[in-house]
Amino acid sequence: MTKLDIPFGRPWIEDLERDAVMEVLSGHILTHGPNCHAFEKGFAKMMGGGHAVSTSSCMASLHLSWMDLGVGPGDEVLLPAMTHVATAHAVALTGATPVFVDSELTSGNMDLDDMAAKVTAKTKAIGIVHYVGIPIDMVKVMALAEKHGLKVVEDCALAVEARIDGTHVGLFGHTGCYSFYPVKHITCGEGGMLVSKDPETVKRIGEFRAFNYDRSGPGPKVPGLYDVKGLGMNYRMSEMQAALGRVQLTRLPDIMRIREANFRALQKGLNAIDGVRVLDSGEDRLKSSFYCVTMLLEGDLAAKRNDIALALNERGIGTSIYYPHPIGRLRYYRDKFGYDANGFPGATAIADNAIALPCGPHLGVKDMEDIAGCMAETAARL
Ligand SMILES: *Cc1c(COP(=O)(O)O)cnc(C)c1O
Repeated sequence: MTKLDIPFGRPWIEDLERDAVMEVLSGHILTHGPNCHAFEKGFAKMMGGGHAVSTSSCMASLHLSWMDLGVGPGDEVLLPAMTHVATAHAVALTGATPVFVDSELTSGNMDLDDMAAKVTAKTKAIGIVHYVGIPIDMVKVMALAEKHGLKVVEDCALAVEARIDGTHVGLFGHTGCYSFYPVKHITCGEGGMLVSKDPETVKRIGEFRAFNYDRSGPGPKVPGLYDVKGLGMNYRMSEMQAALGRVQLTRLPDIMRIREANFRALQKGLNAIDGVRVLDSGEDRLKSSFYCVTMLLEGDLAAKRNDIALALNERGIGTSIYYPHPIGRLRYYRDKFGYDANGFPGATAIADNAIALPCGPHLGVKDMEDIAGCMAETAARL
């Protein structure tokens, strides 16, 4: 058997990106300059609404969002059990208590009934994650939030171009937070974006992100003079990163076309295998960003997840796991907040019995057929 060459992810970098970064290095503005502003404008335009501010990472965007909302000690924030640890760290850093919500098994998103059941008098907000880019129904989330007076932050790290009834995710809550880490849809090496419908929110958070400098006061406009009206961070993006991001943004239509075709091909191939089910939104109005193909193993295959992943790796197919543990099962969170091992059957099933497969633009439909064929053969053999 020839070995396949199907890595899980691979950034799409060409001469356009290299030239854009070199051009920055030939100039004198290395951070927080014209490339950042153009990238922010371009990102907001791609989203079809809202205002954007560049940051150093998605986790920085999340942290800024929670700081802006004044979430802190004594507050509870509902979060999915099945997410990247950054989602939980950003809340825990403020001193607030993360309260985890189980996953439903069609899409892997937060179970709306469990979400409603976990609202208490201390609940201040909901941190949404669009699981591997599959949108959760924000119309229902916002209705629940309104009923209880809760704020909503959307972690859209894997959800660039995911839409609900045509509206880009990230435009429903207080803010939407994006990541440009190398395996995401587009990359800056490291980097993030924060988006909001409210220009005042973006302005306020933009200042907080840059030490909270205030140059708006009366007096002479002398370079280097500023006042500071509150605490702040340095969560800015560099011009080299933003130059990279601007070029990546122009690739997005191609990236999305290839991702969707790959996803559909692999979904069809895998769903034909007994004991395999691909997670998806289940509704046409909830349009995925097609980040990866999450294959949930059921029946006899469920217990063989690790062996199956290793067998696929052996054949040259890259795999990943989104995510390896319900957050509450991670040592830090377990020790600090306690963990009910029976409380998260959905999230536990995904953590222990699912495999994430690639569908990125470095691959084509033939690769998807090879993955499905290899998986059918592995399932029959193991
Ligand atoms: C990757 C990821 C993050 C972290 O993004 P960074 O830009 O690396 O901080 C946060 N949340 C989710 C859902 C992610 O997939």
